[in-house]
Amino acid sequence: MMDNLIHATAHDGFVRIIAAETTDLVNEAVQQHNTMPTASAAFGRMLTAGSLMGSMMKNPQDTITVQINGGGISGGVLVTGKSDGRVKGYIENPDADLPQNDAGKLNVSGIIGLDGKLTVIMDLGMKEPYVSSVPIYTGEIAEDLAYYYTVSEQTPSAVALGVLIETDGSVKKSGGFIIQMLPGAHEMIADILMFRLQEIPNLTTMLCDGNTIKEVLEFIFEDMGLKILEEKVPKLYCDCSQERVAKALLTIGEKDLQELYDDNKTEELVCHFCNTKYHFEHEDLGALLDEIRKNA
Ligand SMILES: [Zn+2]
Repeated sequence: MMDNLIHATAHDGFVRIIAAETTDLVNEAVQQHNTMPTASAAFGRMLTAGSLMGSMMKNPQDTITVQINGGGISGGVLVTGKSDGRVKGYIENPDADLPQNDAGKLNVSGIIGLDGKLTVIMDLGMKEPYVSSVPIYTGEIAEDLAYYYTVSEQTPSAVALGVLIETDGSVKKSGGFIIQMLPGAHEMIADILMFRLQEIPNLTTMLCDGNTIKEVLEFIFEDMGLKILEEKVPKLYCDCSQERVAKALLTIGEKDLQELYDDNKTEELVCHFCNTKYHFEHEDLGALLDEIRKNA
């Protein structure tokens, strides 16, 4: 188990760094959702983003949901992250796949599409969640998030998200980082950092070379006063249960539920996030009907 999520600062706290290796997490998700290679890369980048962004939330009950839907063959991809680095998500079409692009890379923007929005929903336990959208910029996800941070949060950010898929479809390496310039940071720091980020190898290459995410940060921020603040283990999670799924079933209404019951049918619902199947037998449907009537 190598997955690790790090919060750090550099340049006397003017640079904020959130970085993670998410190989195990993304591998688990890719198996759970049985995704094709390009879908795996898109889903893995989104899960990594969800884990990084979730970990920036202050309170354990806070959640952040990131959704991208550009009208492409992947359909929408949605992830929800929590403050401890846990994340869950789904991709509408796990079979979405395209030939590699000219650079020999998985064509993530090709399956996401460019005709749509990236939406961030922060639920901080207030009456209303905070919702903000930006148009999709490249469909590669990392650039879209950088654009979101700059436009919606006025925080200049560099975002990298990488998922390397093996020929057998498994995830060789996955990881990402969000690097932000905080208010008061000298412009020169941003210039030096941009230059540095352009000249370094990409993140998955460094991870493949055997570096930990911490070593990657030590390399990027050499001589820049890197300070590790916190480490967490990013994990895949789901909070579904028979009870929660039953609530979803209740929303179809008494009439439809009565019909299922009268026709002696059973019902199966699948959790989008973890693909767990929930069965509702004849007597379960009867119990739900009783519950509706009791609450009516
Ligand atoms: Zn679930």
